[in-house]
Amino acid sequence: MPLIIKARRSRRIRLLVTVFCGLLPIVLGGVILYLQAQRTLEHDTRLTAEEAIRQFELMLDNTAQAARELLPLAGQPCDAVKLALREQVTRRPFVRSTNLVWEDNLYCSSLFGDYQEKVNAGDYTQGTLWLMNGNPVTPDSALLVYRLSDGKQGALTTLDGYHLSNVLRLIGRQTLLLLRVGPNWLSADGKVHVAALPALPVAESKLTSTRYDFTVAAGFAEGETWRYMRSEYPALFSLLIFFGAVSALIGHVLQKRSSSPSHELLRALDAEEFVAYFQPVVHGTNKQWSGAEVLMRWNHPKEGLVRPDLFIPFAEHSGLIVPMTRSLMQQTAKLLGPVSASFDEPFHIGINITASHCKNLELVDDCRTFLSAFAPGSIHLVLELTERELIEPAPVTLQLFEQLHALGVKIAIDDFGTGHSSLGYLRQFNVDFLKIDQSFVAMIGADALSRHILDSIIELSVKLDLGIVAEGVETTEQSDYLSAHGVNFLQGYLFGKPMPGADFIRALTLH
Ligand code: C2E
Ligand code: CA
Ligand code: CA
Repeated sequence: MPLIIKARRSRRIRLLVTVFCGLLPIVLGGVILYLQAQRTLEHDTRLTAEEAIRQFELMLDNTAQAARELLPLAGQPCDAVKLALREQVTRRPFVRSTNLVWEDNLYCSSLFGDYQEKVNAGDYTQGTLWLMNGNPVTPDSALLVYRLSDGKQGALTTLDGYHLSNVLRLIGRQTLLLLRVGPNWLSADGKVHVAALPALPVAESKLTSTRYDFTVAAGFAEGETWRYMRSEYPALFSLLIFFGAVSALIGHVLQKRSSSPSHELLRALDAEEFVAYFQPVVHGTNKQWSGAEVLMRWNHPKEGLVRPDLFIPFAEHSGLIVPMTRSLMQQTAKLLGPVSASFDEPFHIGINITASHCKNLELVDDCRTFLSAFAPGSIHLVLELTERELIEPAPVTLQLFEQLHALGVKIAIDDFGTGHSSLGYLRQFNVDFLKIDQSFVAMIGADALSRHILDSIIELSVKLDLGIVAEGVETTEQSDYLSAHGVNFLQGYLFGKPMPGADFIRALTLH
């Protein structure tokens, strides 16, 4: 059950990583395009505002020119000057009406001739411009009044709002354009608003004329950036989606590849797929079960039971062999610890260790924990170190073996005869057992030379006062030969194959 949940979780994580890889270029690219679109729109509004300022200044120049020409006439009787007033209206395209003022009193108008109206200079921003929402002649129709005064003389010329709103509408076809004069502002629909200039949602640009006191604001309505991107970047969007798909694919493939051997081993360790198998070891004399070697099997969800020589090299290479062995020791302690009190004599439990275990002192703690699960004196823990992979006698290694011996742990040299361990080496590590490699056991009954090698190994172990275990015993002939030559312990298919814990406990009670 935990295996299924873990597998499902890791599949979900892999899917999430793939989706993330796919979305990353799309989101990043999208953000870049969004920023680019905003820059383009800001550039647009700036150009539009500059153009509008230019147009308004041209119109105001026209209006101001009329006022300048009429100002000297102010004070003269209206009848004498009204033709001049009308001439300006006719001659100048943007001038709608002209008026003369004497002592802040509008007394002559191009439209009505004699007229009387008070002029309040405060209505004009900086005394020159007034954006009005119509006058008595055309109420509700915007009007920009230009005022020029000199002492008692004054001239007022007006610019029709129609021209202004035309500029706002035509220059900024897609752009929103607003014209502010003093406290009022004009929108493209020709309406004058008495309020502060509203903020424009997208890419707002505000520019103030350097020559007349007015400001132009240009910008776009909400959502314009997206609309612009949709209309201008469809090809780039397709490219982003293509990159997203490629990136998701690469992410997927890399993840597949990253389930390299060590990755897969780590997953299996998490999922508790490494299980302990037990092979009995018997006494050389009476063939009673005297112990067991713990052998690792990988209970792979797809491949089934995997042989250790197929994965142990990877486990050693990645250093994962240490936690894997720890798991095996825990399983062994859990299985045999509870029955250990019933053992008549110390039961040998062989655990295979590797060079990775000898790099620090962690193994001491593992062994201490292991031993604490058994009734005191009920077992002999034998660590089997293969001769093929000789370890360097570094200070930490010697310290490790010293501490292991102090704990009562025994050391066996596995596959003895296949490597090159010297006598000095055997002494240095204080070895307790030699395990004769099965290739030598297989030689029993063969030629005299092969038997001679086997005999020398047995002789050596007797001389060195080492316990001796023969593995790979398959026939009674081999068993008899080894027993006759004083081999203390035998291990092989003849006595029992490696078996799962439950089977081993059942067989143990029978023996
Ligand atoms: P090994 O330590 O020399 O273990 C003995 C191997 O010989 C075992 O193979 C066992 O099943 C096999 N064997 C025992 N009796 C007979 C027999 O009568 N005939 C034949 N033909 N074979 C027999 P296994 O279990 O496949 O393990 C192979 C090797 O993998 C082990 O050799 C050991 O080097 C390594 N290994 C297994 N478990 C572990 C472990 O937990 N840790 C480490 N580091 N290595 C392990
Ligand atoms: Ca072994
Ligand atoms: Ca062996």
